[in-house]
Amino acid sequence: MAEHVVIIGSGPAGWAAAIYASRANLEPLVIEGAETEENRIAGTLPLGQLNLTTEVENYPGFPAGHLHDYIRTAVAKDRVDTYLEPLEEHPHAVTGPELMNLMRQQATNFGTKIITDDVLEVDLSRRPFTLKMLGGGTHEAHSLIIATGARANYLGLPSEERFKNRGVSACAVCDGALPRFRNKPMVVVGGGDSAVEEATYLSKYASTVHMLMRRDVFRASKIMQDRAMASPKIKIHYFREVDEVLGDDKAGVTGVRVKNNKEGGTEDLPASGLFLAIGHTPNTAFLNGQLQLNDMGYVQYTTLNRTFTSVEGVYAAGDVADDYYRQAITSAGTGCMAALDAERYLAARGI
Ligand code: NAP
Repeated sequence: MAEHVVIIGSGPAGWAAAIYASRANLEPLVIEGAETEENRIAGTLPLGQLNLTTEVENYPGFPAGHLHDYIRTAVAKDRVDTYLEPLEEHPHAVTGPELMNLMRQQATNFGTKIITDDVLEVDLSRRPFTLKMLGGGTHEAHSLIIATGARANYLGLPSEERFKNRGVSACAVCDGALPRFRNKPMVVVGGGDSAVEEATYLSKYASTVHMLMRRDVFRASKIMQDRAMASPKIKIHYFREVDEVLGDDKAGVTGVRVKNNKEGGTEDLPASGLFLAIGHTPNTAFLNGQLQLNDMGYVQYTTLNRTFTSVEGVYAAGDVADDYYRQAITSAGTGCMAALDAERYLAARGI
């Protein structure tokens, strides 16, 4: 039996779509992604990029406070025990993992079905649409919501590839607390909100965090810039790029050769880790060219103020179709819109 709606992806867009679709009695199926080592390294595990962050201070409805009682009573105990850090006593805004587990729970409470697997490929040329799964088997869907988000970019240097998992990472929250980084210098590349967030998080463990920016202009919001500049542990280096990651097979990363792109020359910075925060690439490979993408590779919306894509019955939500705003709240907003668009499409066809 084909599902009414299959939602691929489990960030804020996916769960918002699931909450709306389940409350419309569409019994949506969410394919939340597989828990594999490959996904861990790529940053594409279930619950998306927010699950890889610390505090989320700009999601409306969560001013700093003592949230632990609420989370303990709202989220299933096994999820709290398995997926959430022991809840801290200090007042805090919601963390990314807390927010995502709250959203997942809310969708589950209204009858959303969840599969922990990846979609390998889709066939959008026939109806119902078919989805081939990594773990084997297929699913059919009368409508589809693509909410697969985006993944962190790497520089593409062979030396960076060599030391992935041994000092090179794109997720400070996942890897920053490893013993190899304790009280050692570390390097973060980028000047956006993600770079400041990574540098701030790493500064809890590192002796010094060197932030390398290829220009002297931040993309980060003013509040985040101020945070980086005020930190005694963060040193900002303008007009600097990574030339080579230094290290050996035994120790992993031992330093970074840094190029001065304004005045020329290089300098070797001792470092036990290199963290990349240089933007993201949308997760669209499984679509295999069957949906129209824009020139940056994001799913192209085809109608103003709608989540329609180039295939009728297929909708897109969140970062996979957003090369501009890329916020948790905007993703959740488009997730809601996609569910309403799918519901109206199904109703018009009597499905
Ligand atoms: P971003 O804003 O696009 O910033 C990317 C940074 O990486 C820029 O400084 C860019 O430099 C640099 N960069 C790109 N390619 C590079 C390369 N090959 N070598 C060296 N540097 C390179 O990306 P982001 O920080 O991941 O943020 C993405 C979105 O998520 C934004 O909309 C942001 O607001 C949002 N976000 C928000 C929060 C928050 O509110 N707390 C946290 C994280 C992310 P140039 O400027 O020179 O291009």
